[in-house]
Amino acid sequence: MGLSKLNSLYREVILDHSDHPHHKHALADSTSTITLKNPTCGDVINLDVKLDATDHIADIGFTGDGCTISQSSASMMTDAVMGKSKEEALHMAKTFSDMVMGKEHPQADLDQLEDAAILSSIMQFPARIKCATLSWWALQRALMREEDQVTKED
Ligand code: ZN
Repeated sequence: MGLSKLNSLYREVILDHSDHPHHKHALADSTSTITLKNPTCGDVINLDVKLDATDHIADIGFTGDGCTISQSSASMMTDAVMGKSKEEALHMAKTFSDMVMGKEHPQADLDQLEDAAILSSIMQFPARIKCATLSWWALQRALMREEDQVTKED
């Protein structure tokens, strides 16, 4: 895995999420569903999002398989965005993808990511950045698709 290079506290949190992923289940009443694959690693994520009438994430769940980083990141992502508005969630996805590419962000933005902020350490492993961002890309697409449906655009 090469994860031994990570700070041991970070490693523990990452392994805890991958061993006991949060919100790892399909939703029966999702308003948007998306499947994304990371072919370089073999990670697959199926993401179900349920937006309420005020465009807040009322529920979110994922299924699929993949490496420790992809599973752990999906678990952290679902924790962080639960209850957030679509706009906030999209902002968080942008913060996350900027963060793993090494771009600076205000501390308040990083705090909002909760455990997912730990994955900034994944920058040390360029090959794993896609594993970490897969679930956030799925979130973005699921939320944007929601918009498409409303505006009837393709
Ligand atoms: Zn992976």
